[in-house]
Formats: sequence, C-alpha cells, structure tokens
Amino acid sequence: MSNHKARKRFGQNFLIDNRIIEQIVATIAPKFDDNLLEIGPGQGAMTLPLLERVKQLNVIEIDRDLIVMLNNLNKANLVIHQGDALKFDLNTLPTPIRVVGNLPYNISSPILFHLLENRDKVVDMTFMLQKEVVQRMAAKHGSKIYGRLSVMMQAFFEVELIFIVPPESFDPAPKVDSAIVYLKPLTQSKVRNTSLFEKIVKTAFSQRRKTLRNCLKSLLSQEQTTIDLSQRAEMLAVEDFITLTNDYEKQH
Ligand code: SAM
Repeated sequence: MSNHKARKRFGQNFLIDNRIIEQIVATIAPKFDDNLLEIGPGQGAMTLPLLERVKQLNVIEIDRDLIVMLNNLNKANLVIHQGDALKFDLNTLPTPIRVVGNLPYNISSPILFHLLENRDKVVDMTFMLQKEVVQRMAAKHGSKIYGRLSVMMQAFFEVELIFIVPPESFDPAPKVDSAIVYLKPLTQSKVRNTSLFEKIVKTAFSQRRKTLRNCLKSLLSQEQTTIDLSQRAEMLAVEDFITLTNDYEKQH
C-alpha cells in the first residue's frame, strides 16, 4: 500500500484483510445505480472494490494527505469531498443515499446522531464500529448495556449486528474487536417529536442508578403518565419511551 502514517486523532485503523473487505462489500451488495456515500475512505480499502460496482461513489475524508492519495487514484466515478463528516451536508448529494464506512471510532456516536437527523435521505447504512458500540446499539431493555444509544437507534432504525471483525484485520490493530452493523430507517417510526424524545431519553438515562421518578422529576410526575416511574430507565422498552414522550406532550 503506501507509507502514510496512521493518525490517531483521526481514528485511523486501515483495513488490510481482503476476505473481510469482500464480506463487507457483499453485505452492502451495491447496485450500479445506488447513491453510495463512504465516510472516511482512508487509503481506499473499501473504496476501490466499491468503485468497481457503482456508477458513482461519493466519499468524505478529513485527512488532506489521504485526499491527495485518493485524487491520485484517478478514478472517473469517484467524487471526493474533503472535510468533516459531522458537518457534511447530505442535501448536496443525489438521494436516496446508502451510507457506508469503516468509521473513525473516536467520533462514531456523533456521526450516528448526525445521520439520525438526516435519516429521511437515507436508504440504509452499513458501518464498521467497535463491537461494544454495536452491542449497545442493538441491546434490549433489561440488559446492562441498554442505554441512550440503544433507544435512540432502535426508535428510528432496524439495527442488526452482521459479523465480528478481529483486531488483526486492521493496520494499526485496534485494542478491541470491531463489528459490522446494518441500519435501516424504520418506515414508520412512532416518534413524532424527535427533539423532545431525545431530551426525555437523555434525562431518563442521566443517572442510571436512580429511578425514573427521580431522573424525570423536572419533566413529569407519576400522575401524568401510565409508565411506572419507580423503575430504572434500563427497564423501559423503546415503546415505553415513546409513551412517556406522548404523555409529556399531553400535559404541556
Ligand atoms: N475506510 C478506510 C479503511 O477501512 O481502511 C479507513 C478507515 S479509518 C477507521 C477512518 C477514516 O475516517 C480515516 O481515513 C480518517 O482519516 C477518516 N476520518 C476521521 N475523522 C473524520 C471526519 N470527521 N470526517 C471524515 N473522515 C474522517
């Protein structure tokens, strides 16, 4: 490959295992006319096989040295955007978009929330993330790892852990296992007021050891909801958080 020195601050762990790369591309199963957006193409490990499958591929990369390398590939169907994926305006792309990427782990949650806000333009997303993050995204209520990320993702997406990827598949090797996750926006999410829902979920999980009555006391009392507030947030299903939000709205 190249002599690019991986930059920790950009979460650079480059995929080097061709079998894994093939498996990811097979999971994405790109069609020629798909509007694909790759976040963090790096040195092109996934980009090159994807370019063989689609009419056009948009990529957003922050590292200017890697932008030079990507430009040097001289691929006519590769559209390169230099910048921060967190600030990237999806309205500039043809829609609907299929988003893919081996994400920089240090900013994976902010990227997921940025895409959550833009989910109306998205068909689906296939990402490599830390295994632990994917497990939290897919966790069910009652589990210790169920939290804000689980509720926010499952309220808006179908979340599926596809397969686990070991550290040796990357250079440099991360300290933890990774996993491929598939996210598909729910066609009919029951959440009506997204920002209020987000606020309630965040507040409910603000102190995990306390009861909901305690965490939510500035927002809602037991008389104002059918949800039993003597429980902790981790016991509530995604649907229950939607009920809480609706009950709050009825009162205000
Ligand atoms: N896709 C490549 C691969 O699999 O080998 C690289 C993956 S590496 C884990 C993450 C990539 O995201 C790096 O190329 C890094 O420079 C880029 N990146 C980091 N922060 C970014 C940001 N805020 N916006 C866009 N790209 C970013």
